[in-house]
Amino acid sequence: MLAGVFPLTDQSVLTDQLGRPLRDLRLSVTDRCNLRCTYCMPKEVFGPDFAFLPKSELLSFEELERLSRLFVASGVNKLRITGGEPLLRRGLPELIGRLVAIEGVQDIAMTTNGLLLPRLAADLKAAGLKRVTVSLDSLDPEVFGRMNGLGVHPDKVLDGIEAALVAGLGVKVNTVVQRGVNDASLGELWHALKDKAVLRFIEFMDVGNHNGWNLDAVVPPREVLAQLGSEFVPVGANYRGEVATRYTDAQGHEAGLITSVSSPFCGDCTRARLSAVGVLYTCLFATGGLDLRSPLREGQSDAQLRELLAQTWSVRRDRYSEERGEATERGKATGLIRQKVEMSHIGG
Ligand code: SAM
Ligand code: SF4
Ligand code: SF4
Repeated sequence: MLAGVFPLTDQSVLTDQLGRPLRDLRLSVTDRCNLRCTYCMPKEVFGPDFAFLPKSELLSFEELERLSRLFVASGVNKLRITGGEPLLRRGLPELIGRLVAIEGVQDIAMTTNGLLLPRLAADLKAAGLKRVTVSLDSLDPEVFGRMNGLGVHPDKVLDGIEAALVAGLGVKVNTVVQRGVNDASLGELWHALKDKAVLRFIEFMDVGNHNGWNLDAVVPPREVLAQLGSEFVPVGANYRGEVATRYTDAQGHEAGLITSVSSPFCGDCTRARLSAVGVLYTCLFATGGLDLRSPLREGQSDAQLRELLAQTWSVRRDRYSEERGEATERGKATGLIRQKVEMSHIGG
């Protein structure tokens, strides 16, 4: 299929060089976080002296809404709010309300570490949010405390999950799996939460440049399922491009595996990411992106901004996860390390 703009009834859908439509947008609303997960924002790097962005640099809610509208007019129908920790962004329910009101948005979700949900879940629900994905890597206090870098107890996240459920939000749980770190405690997590939430087990990825990634720490799907201690049957995807491979146990509880390393899914990747300062990235492992904030603040029209989106998406060829092996070998041979954008900046 040729890259370009294809008219639909009320929207245009952009496709890239590999025929992939632009369908999802992840909005990072802050680069700050109240945890220091070792695989994302290790505290040795993101320490007390780390220079986080000043508020003036962040896209305002008006700017986020306007850009979201332009993305939706270009084919996006799913939005996900992320960060950093999105609940640290003051007034977030107001942003949710603005985004929910955009015609053409079929789904809006948020990924959060859950710590602030007891305070905010009801307001988020009232603003129109339907579901949250809460990240929780282990129920073992020692394991979780080590992984989150600050010794925070898993009960704090469980309180957040409870608050979300009480508020009437749907809940998924994201668990990053690392061999020798939390793989032995996955069964406990699964059995404690499977009645309340859909669980998603994510392979440890080499996002950014500071998380000490190595292939040996990635646990393949068959081993993850074995750790859960239930009998599973595979179930089909809900829609084309769904990133999780889904399984259910005999009672219908669902576990999904996100195997970006062992079985990459770049061929179906329809996701764009907008950083908190308004840089558009077309891949989680990008080394650079397109600054949309400058043209926005310089007064460019909607048509001009949409043209920038179209140009960027139409030349997209990203398929990093399919090229990872090659890239890693090349890096070792040449000593040239690909300088990828950090997860907290680009939004997971
Ligand atoms: N702070 C929020 C949270 O933790 O849910 C949202 C941002 S976080 C960057 C988004 C998701 O990325 C989380 O589920 C997190 O576990 C996941 N993540 C971060 N670093 C990762 C890595 N190196 N490999 C796999 N997943 C990662
Ligand atoms: Fe913060 Fe989320 Fe990254 Fe953990 S994964 S450090 S909670 S942004
Ligand atoms: Fe999409 Fe890039 Fe991930 Fe491939 S590596 S699935 S292109 S974000």
